[in-house]
Amino acid sequence: MSHKLRVGELQAFYLTEEEVWRFFTIVLTTKSKKSATYKYGLLKAMIENLYQVDSEGEVTYDQLAYSFAKIYWNLVIHHDLEQGTRGSAVVKRLLEISEEHQIPKDITFDRLDPPIQIKAAKRIKSVMKTNVFGALYGDTRGSFYAFDHKKERFRFNGYVLTFMRKYQRLLVDLVNYHMAKMIEQLNAVPHINYLLGKVESIAQRSTLKPFERVLMQYFEERCFYCKKSLGKGNVQTHVDHFIPWSFVQSDHLWNLVLSCSTCNTSKNDRLPVREFLDDVVTRNEQLLNYEDLVIRDQDLSNYEEKKMVHLYEYSIQNGYEGTWFP
Ligand SMILES: [Zn+2]
Repeated sequence: MSHKLRVGELQAFYLTEEEVWRFFTIVLTTKSKKSATYKYGLLKAMIENLYQVDSEGEVTYDQLAYSFAKIYWNLVIHHDLEQGTRGSAVVKRLLEISEEHQIPKDITFDRLDPPIQIKAAKRIKSVMKTNVFGALYGDTRGSFYAFDHKKERFRFNGYVLTFMRKYQRLLVDLVNYHMAKMIEQLNAVPHINYLLGKVESIAQRSTLKPFERVLMQYFEERCFYCKKSLGKGNVQTHVDHFIPWSFVQSDHLWNLVLSCSTCNTSKNDRLPVREFLDDVVTRNEQLLNYEDLVIRDQDLSNYEEKKMVHLYEYSIQNGYEGTWFP
């Protein structure tokens, strides 16, 4: 049984796009039993970590478990979509934590105290080891990734990584759709009202305040786009995803900039014109000079200029046009 494996080597290295599509179709449409939504959870966690990999294409179990815990916390605790999955190990662990700390239902994952987030991710990680990594590995016949429970490392097949970045927007929609379809079968009204919207937003943060504090600490309080001075008079400070969140599906400090409310609102879900790409690359070089920050932020320590440039190019390929300017 593949889900019992402790180590999974890559079984295929080279894959054509057609082969990757075939695996995705099988994984997304095959009906399996009760732990069924896990594969969608892992795919969402993988998507969230596409730009958090190191130069070998690896991410740690902690990174994936954090994403996975966030997705299920928001689904199970925040949106109360637990029926049918009540007995599942992930749901059980999260309910235990929410009861232990008496956390009200309306609290989203990113509003939990960091030690509670870490505790949740740690418990979820052990469930992932027994029920999740091996299962999707088996469904894709070991062609998507390698994993090692002892080292707690997960390594993407390079072709799959490129494929997922290239078709990211479509994959996000496909995974959300199939996940929602399954949740709908397992739960009842009113919980499933506006279900697709709930599933689309389970990975999203409700606040970027912690990032704002970090950026304010290291940079002049100016709008990245129009250079207006922030925090004075009526000029509110916002944190903007340089590449829209709807595409990148995660929050990296290197993709976040301070902006005024006018620019943030007018930019909305759009990509800025290319000249700002050079500016953000330069800004990130400055970020990397702050050693204390790089040590604290694992995501930043994996940053390379080409990640930003690729992300910009992939977002254009995925239908975002770089046409917004202040
Ligand atoms: Zn501005």
